[in-house]
Amino acid sequence: MNQENIRNFVIISHIDHGKSTLADRFLEITKTVDSRKMQPQYLDRMALERERGITIKMQPCRMIYHPEIRNSKSEARNKSKIQNSNDKNSFGFRNSNFELANLEYILNLIDTPGHVDFSYEVSRSLAAVEGAILLVDATKGIQAQTIANLEMALKEKLVIIPAINKIDIAIPEQIEQTRKELSSLLETHEQDIHLVSAKTGKNVEELLKAAIKRVPAPAFANPSVGEAGASTGESADKGSRALIFDSEYDFYKGVVVYVKVVDGQVKKGDKIYLMGSKTRAEAIEVGHFKPELVSVIKLEAGEIGYIATGLKDIEKCRVGDTVTRYKLQDTSYKPEPLKGYQKPQSMVFASFYPVNADDYNQLKDGLGKLKLTDASLVFEGESIPALGRGFRCGFLGMLHLEIISERLKRDYGLELVITSPSVAYKKDKQIEEPWIKMEIILPVNYLGSVMKLLETLRGAHKNTKYLGQDKLIIEFEAPLDEIIAGFYDKLKSVSSGYGSMSYILIGYREGNLEKLDILLAGDKIDAFSKIIPKQMAYRRAKKMVKLLKEVIPPQQFAVPIQAVVGGKIIARETKKAMRKDVISGLYGGDYTRKKKLLEKQKKGKKKLTKFGKVNLPSEVFLKILKQR
Ligand code: GDP
Ligand code: MG
Repeated sequence: MNQENIRNFVIISHIDHGKSTLADRFLEITKTVDSRKMQPQYLDRMALERERGITIKMQPCRMIYHPEIRNSKSEARNKSKIQNSNDKNSFGFRNSNFELANLEYILNLIDTPGHVDFSYEVSRSLAAVEGAILLVDATKGIQAQTIANLEMALKEKLVIIPAINKIDIAIPEQIEQTRKELSSLLETHEQDIHLVSAKTGKNVEELLKAAIKRVPAPAFANPSVGEAGASTGESADKGSRALIFDSEYDFYKGVVVYVKVVDGQVKKGDKIYLMGSKTRAEAIEVGHFKPELVSVIKLEAGEIGYIATGLKDIEKCRVGDTVTRYKLQDTSYKPEPLKGYQKPQSMVFASFYPVNADDYNQLKDGLGKLKLTDASLVFEGESIPALGRGFRCGFLGMLHLEIISERLKRDYGLELVITSPSVAYKKDKQIEEPWIKMEIILPVNYLGSVMKLLETLRGAHKNTKYLGQDKLIIEFEAPLDEIIAGFYDKLKSVSSGYGSMSYILIGYREGNLEKLDILLAGDKIDAFSKIIPKQMAYRRAKKMVKLLKEVIPPQQFAVPIQAVVGGKIIARETKKAMRKDVISGLYGGDYTRKKKLLEKQKKGKKKLTKFGKVNLPSEVFLKILKQR
């Protein structure tokens, strides 16, 4: 195989701008997926992705494309042009007369998620490719992740191919407007922006051809090996290196790592070595994504594919690590590891406890397996007296948390208690909290309502600037805690869905914060403690004790509920004692009804957990933890 015919590229955009649908059309054009099997957003393979209509994981897919250009121009000329386009840092728009060679092209496409919580997926896929189709919904224009993802792609020096999508439903003014925004953002000519409909397929093949023309073939990181590497087998061993950009777990094949082969090759049966984790293994299978795994004999430089390692220990296969081949005899063989990935920073933390204590090991196993397909998930064991053993978990955002808990429920049948999500505080002399810088993009006419919303945050407005003629970018700094709970939804609702935002952590700052403790019948319940802004202490404390009074089932005795801040009780309520006999109110004769009631009471008892002197059913506990 000729490396010059390989093109590796991603589709990036804001969420819902049509990436997965565009990928569908590519799969059809290249006849990668049988038309009978085709279904919308084909690359969203997880059940959860299909139900929610969002992409959570990146998905690579290999396609073969033959342009069938029976063109008179010589191949030699085409070839030199292909090489000329190998200038990674330019947008290289001006080659529209360029013809594709009459060759078979191998296209490795990676579909990526658009939601801010999954940008780590995007960043990893960017490191495995040479180009990116930047897709913008004509009816929405540029949104926050359009810019955030574009910036990441430019950092990786990818060639950017801009395209405006949904031209079938957009009115001409919207298309014009979006085209202006995009051309000013990219500093390109408007005519270089593709106008497509991923739904109807209009202009999609032209876009695919443009990607083949403009995205350079993968370059060799190590040219001396590269020349031999394409086909000469053993002599190419010395420098074989592949970057792990993702992984999954297979019961039979062990950890399956997704790789971009940078130098040399990896064959089925090769002895391999993972440099970072210093682990030896065997490539028990290698192959491509179609998008399901299809085994082949070897993967060569420039290709994207998978290696099944047979390893059961998931800790040994980290994304960002470098796979090499090793020879026991050859001690001079010391390849350099490839540049890996930065570890993502957890934004939101919550603890997961199994409702049924016997499920602890299953939870541990489930989290471990999920971590394999999601390197951004972090967790460590912890225990709370009332709840037993569980895990403190870190997430990239609330949607990430929700998706992980949903997958644990679904794929591992686990019933979980999840503690109230919070940010990570630091305690020095004062309590410090993480701050973020957000960029909010909105149409000008929503400025008033969005500013009003921002005023409710404990933050600071930094800057407002124009993006094109009708859109603004607001820069705003705020404590992360202010936005993890529902801010994005509020932004959407005050801007009729047009406002969008991205954010980055900028560090820790001292906050005017205090710890709020809850006492039930005089006992402090650690699981209910939380850190809150001082100015909200009174209101939050009142709300909390009121809620507790509502949801705590009556006990045998009256339960004082107290909220304490800095040693002082700032709110209290009392839950009255119960009237003991649940069946006393019923008429004598109805025995079955009595029995039912008693059984129900018994069942209820099973799920009760003791919090100090007080018994709480787990649903009640959950309800309280979800409260902010
Ligand atoms: P992604 O989040 O970027 O992957 O977006 P999807 O491919 O999941 O598409 C989001 C929604 O936009 C879906 O309802 C698609 O059917 C719809 N969509 C995508 N492309 C087009 C298009 O060209 N025209 C129209 N009318 N709808 C589209
Ligand atoms: Mg998608």
